[in-house]
Amino acid sequence: MRTSSSSIPAAELIGRAEAAYLGLALGDALGATVEFMMPREIRGQFGVHKEIRGGGWLRLKPGSVTDDTTMSLALGEAILVDGGRVEPLSCAHAFDAWMRAKPVDIGNTVRRNLVAFRRSGDPVAPPSEHDAGNGAAMRVLPVALATLGQDEHDVRVAVRAQSHVTHNNPDSDAATEFLALAVQEGLRGGKLRGVYRRGIQPFIERHPVFTHRSRRRENPSGWVIETIQAVLQSLLATDSFENCLIDVVNRGGDADTTGAIAGMLAGAIYGRDALPVRWVKALDPKMREACATQARRLVSLSLAP
Ligand code: MN
Ligand code: MN
Repeated sequence: MRTSSSSIPAAELIGRAEAAYLGLALGDALGATVEFMMPREIRGQFGVHKEIRGGGWLRLKPGSVTDDTTMSLALGEAILVDGGRVEPLSCAHAFDAWMRAKPVDIGNTVRRNLVAFRRSGDPVAPPSEHDAGNGAAMRVLPVALATLGQDEHDVRVAVRAQSHVTHNNPDSDAATEFLALAVQEGLRGGKLRGVYRRGIQPFIERHPVFTHRSRRRENPSGWVIETIQAVLQSLLATDSFENCLIDVVNRGGDADTTGAIAGMLAGAIYGRDALPVRWVKALDPKMREACATQARRLVSLSLAP
């Protein structure tokens, strides 16, 4: 994947960045209602779940988001304070402050390695073959925005700098680096076909374990491999932002996170006008503003000479 400079106007690029960030929050808010449900339970309760209505096991208010969005915002703020750089220690402090503020949900791997950071002061988690959850992937968007225009190697280094604070694992790395680069393809004007050819296809060739060419991934767990399989299947089986998100969250399982990841990719690919107006209206206005503002600030920083 190349990350050469944009071939689209800056205003369009910023619109796509906002769409990616709002997409993340929309997928999170939509999916949270059905997180940890089986597809058959979702069908029984909602038919097709396609409205932002809150509830779920977290008993959310309609339009509220979860850790996927709030950790991303915490990370993005740390990157902005550091002038666009992704510094492990700043990321670790930002995540720790986020955890102290008692978020509505938090992954086990995130909690364990942040508690370890408090004790050791070392912002890099020890390598672990077990830490292949989707926690680093779900929050990678601000890195993708901040490193737009950098070469692929530097993007990957920046992605790992944030990932390894909590998830130091090769499958997590592969997925998280892929997501950042694929989002950037979309931001630069890539259509689904182009993102597939330049992003998804080479990724699957290098890491066949993530392949979407398997049976329909229902009830995806928080294991990053199942998460990415479900997201890619939904992205490639649909041709709009709305249908992609509806398809992925109705698989149940870790639905807020598959929704969030599908939302950032589909937002970057389909752009601001593709976001359903009723969903954007339903989103908590403070979150909506925080996501759009941070998207603009991060992209502006990465476009600055
Ligand atoms: Mn969540
Ligand atoms: Mn989740």
